[in-house]
Amino acid sequence: LPGHDFRQDARAAVKRARALMAEDASLPTLRYAALETRLAMEALTYDRAQAYGDDFPKWEIGTWQPRKLLLILLGVDPMADTEKSFNVSKEPANGAPQDNEDWFDFGTETVLNLAAIKEQYDAIGSRLHMPTIKQLESGETHDPERLRRRLEGLLTHLEAVLASPIFNLTMIGRNSKITCMRCDHRVRKATKGDAEATTARCPGCGLGYDLVPNADGDFDWYPERTKMKCGTPSCPEELIIYRDELRPGLAVNCEACGKKTLIVFGSRRAEQSEDEAKGPTLQVKDT
Ligand SMILES: [Zn+2]
Ligand SMILES: [Zn+2]
Repeated sequence: LPGHDFRQDARAAVKRARALMAEDASLPTLRYAALETRLAMEALTYDRAQAYGDDFPKWEIGTWQPRKLLLILLGVDPMADTEKSFNVSKEPANGAPQDNEDWFDFGTETVLNLAAIKEQYDAIGSRLHMPTIKQLESGETHDPERLRRRLEGLLTHLEAVLASPIFNLTMIGRNSKITCMRCDHRVRKATKGDAEATTARCPGCGLGYDLVPNADGDFDWYPERTKMKCGTPSCPEELIIYRDELRPGLAVNCEACGKKTLIVFGSRRAEQSEDEAKGPTLQVKDT
């Protein structure tokens, strides 16, 4: 599916905001400019999410708050909101190019980052509402001049983002990837080249993974799952349960003995050991 042109939407919203601000500096007019500015911030963030394609979690495509959306992207790619430059070198004779002249500079991407969204999006959003009784009583009314200055700065920044010669560079640098062991979707995590333990989530099914750096300079991926002894007393098999599926009522099939182990609630007194506990924590169902 070809993506929607959110960048064009953002550009149009910025233009409308600028036109409104050129009309007059009254609060009613500025309010509409603030609304258009927020739409531009939303469109730019959706554009970014769209650029992540298959790396973006399927179940989040309805998320509309730019801050939430960017936090999701940062979970996939810690560089999702970082300004990036893009340089390409001519084919080096041997090894890496030595001189700066060997590099062609494609420019820098200015990104609408999380800090700007946090600071500005809600701040101008609060101007879209009537002052509350409390605000009026404390004399805390909306100051049109302050709002105008804020919008002015924000629109200048959005224009720089829209004027970036390159944009939506995603998953730059080193990535670690696997095929999800539950749903076969590709799972990638941008790691910045850091060898620090991190986490990732499958964009297809949501299964979480712990990533632990290994000796090869890559990561070992450990799914969030629990091992549990098969409920059949004579069966030594270990059953594997994905943590997000673990709930009372779940019946887990055992390949070894062919029986199902049912997960149920159990209880024990705090001073009792697990072995002494009364009542089943597991039941075995015949299939
Ligand atoms: Zn998956
Ligand atoms: Zn078994």
